[in-house]
Amino acid sequence: MKKIVIIGGGLGGLAAAAVLASSGCSVSLYERNKHLGGKLKPEKLGSHTFDFGPNTITMPHVFDSVFQEAGEDPRSYYEWVKLDDHTANWSADGRRFLMSTEKETVLEQLKVIDPYAYRHYENYLGEVGKLYQLSEQAFFHRTFSSWKDYLSPSLFSAFTKVKPLETMDHFHRRFFKDPFLLQVFNRYATYIGSSPYTSPATFSMIGFLEMVQGVYYVKGGTVKLAQSLAKLAVKHGAEIHTEAEVAEIITTNRRAAGVRLRSGERIEADDVILNGDLLHALPKLVRNEERRVMTDKRIGRTSPSISAFVIMAGLDHHHDSLIHHQAYFSGNYKREFSDLFQGRWPDDPTIYISNSSFTDKSVSPEGSNLFILVNAPPISEKNTASFDADRYKESIYDKLEKQGVLIRPFLKEEKIVTPEDIQEQFGAYRGALYGIASNTKKDTFLRPFNRSQDIENLYFAGGTTHPGGGSPMVVISGKNVAKTILGKNR
Ligand SMILES: Cc1cc2nc3c(=O)[nH]c(=O)nc-3n(C[C@H](O)[C@H](O)[C@H](O)COP(=O)(O)OP(=O)(O)OC[C@H]3O[C@@H](n4cnc5c(N)ncnc54)[C@H](O)[C@@H]3O)c2cc1C
Repeated sequence: MKKIVIIGGGLGGLAAAAVLASSGCSVSLYERNKHLGGKLKPEKLGSHTFDFGPNTITMPHVFDSVFQEAGEDPRSYYEWVKLDDHTANWSADGRRFLMSTEKETVLEQLKVIDPYAYRHYENYLGEVGKLYQLSEQAFFHRTFSSWKDYLSPSLFSAFTKVKPLETMDHFHRRFFKDPFLLQVFNRYATYIGSSPYTSPATFSMIGFLEMVQGVYYVKGGTVKLAQSLAKLAVKHGAEIHTEAEVAEIITTNRRAAGVRLRSGERIEADDVILNGDLLHALPKLVRNEERRVMTDKRIGRTSPSISAFVIMAGLDHHHDSLIHHQAYFSGNYKREFSDLFQGRWPDDPTIYISNSSFTDKSVSPEGSNLFILVNAPPISEKNTASFDADRYKESIYDKLEKQGVLIRPFLKEEKIVTPEDIQEQFGAYRGALYGIASNTKKDTFLRPFNRSQDIENLYFAGGTTHPGGGSPMVVISGKNVAKTILGKNR
C-alpha cells in the first residue's frame, strides 16, 4: 500500500487526502493549526459564527465530485443553498445593481442603467460560457509536472482561444458601457487576487459561474465543506493530525523519504504532497541548496495576489437592508488597483460584506454576522510600518455609514484580521489570499508545476500551483495531484 504524507489541511490537502484514502492509499495528513480547512476557518464571537475566508462559493459540482468518486453521497455530508439574487452592488454615488442568475432580473436593470449592455448581455453570456467550457476541458483537470506537459496540441489550441492576450477590462468594455457596470464585472479579477486592468480576459469566465451556474452557500456555514472533506477522508482510513507542524521534508538523492515533525517524530512516505502555500512553506521545509529550480531567489521574484483586511462584526439585530453578499465600490477603480499592486493601502477601497445570516439565521441567531473584507496590498515593508489597523477600520465604518450601512451603534462583537495575521495563521506568502497573482500571462498559465522539479516525489496542491487560487480550483488541484500519484490523470 502506497504511503502518502500530506503537509497542510487546506481544501486542496483535504481533497487529495479523500481521493487517495478512498483509492486504498495509506494517508497521513499533518496540519499546523487546530482547525482544518486552512484559509476557510470557523470563527465564533459570542453567539455569532463566521466563515472566515471563502464566502462566495461557485462550482458546487467540484466539491460534490470528491464524494461521488469515493462512492459516497455528498448530500449526506452537507447541503447546498443556491442564491439566485446573490450580490447587491453599490456604486460610489449610491446606485444599486443586483447580480442574479435570473436573466430577466439582470435584463430589467440593464435596460435602465446601460441600454448598450441590455442589447449585448446575451452575447456576453455566450462568450463567457465559451471561455468556461474551454478552460474546463483543456486546463482544469490537467496536472503540470514538466515542460513536456505544455507541448500538447490540444492545450495550445485551447490556449489561443481563451483570450490570453486581452485584458479582462478590455473584454468587458465590449459588452458594458456604464462605468459602474464595468466596475461590477471587473471585480471578478479580485476572485483570483489580481487586477482587471492586467489579468487575462480568460478569467471573465467567472461571469459564467456567477450569472449562469450560480453562487452557493452551505447550510450551517461554508466551513462545512472542509469539515465534510476531512470526515470523508477519515472514513476511508486517512489519519489526520492537527496542531502537528511539519518542520522538514527529509530528502535523499533528490527524493523525499518522508517528513520530520516539529515534535521531532519522523514519518516515512513514498510520496509527499505539500498543500501549504509553497512560496512560504518550501523554503522552511527544504534547504535552498536542494532547490535548483524553486530557489529562494525565484520565490523572491514572484508577485503575490492581493491580501485582505477583514472585520468580523456581530450585530445586536439582523440588518434589514443587507442581503447575503454586497459590494460597495470605490470612486476610482483604476487607482485602487494601482495602489494595491504598488504596495499601498487604498484610501477609498471597495468594501465587500457577506451576511450569511440573511440566508441562514441558525449561524447567527441574535443578529447579523458581517464578514467585511477590503482588498489589501500584499505585505511589504512600506505598507506595514506605519499602518494603523484601528484607524483603517474606522475609515471603513465611516465609508459604510455614507452608504447608509450603520454598524458602530449596533456592534456586539468585533474582530480584525490583517494581512500579517493571514500570513501568520495560514502560512500565506506575504498574506496573499490566492497564491501567485494572475496579472501576467506567465503567472496565469505558467504557475509552479504540480510536481516539484527539484524533488522527484514531492507534489504541490493548492492556490499557488495549477490550476490556481479560489476554493473550487484548489479542490481540483488536490484531486489532480492525487490522481497523478495514482497514475489516473490525463
Ligand atoms: C479572507 C479570504 C477570503 C477569501 N474569499 C474567497 C471566496 O469568497 N471564494 C473562494 O473561492 N475563495 C476565497 N478565498 C481563497 C480560498 O480561501 C483559498 O484559495 C483556498 O482556501 C486555499 O486552499 P489551499 O488548499 O491552497 O490551502 P490553504 O487554505 O492555504 O491551507 C494550507 C494549510 O497548510 C498548512 N501548513 C502550511 N505549512 C505547514 C507545515 N509546515 N506543517 C503543517 N501544516 C502546514 C497551513 O496551516 C494551512 O492550514 C479567500 C481567502 C481568504 C483568506
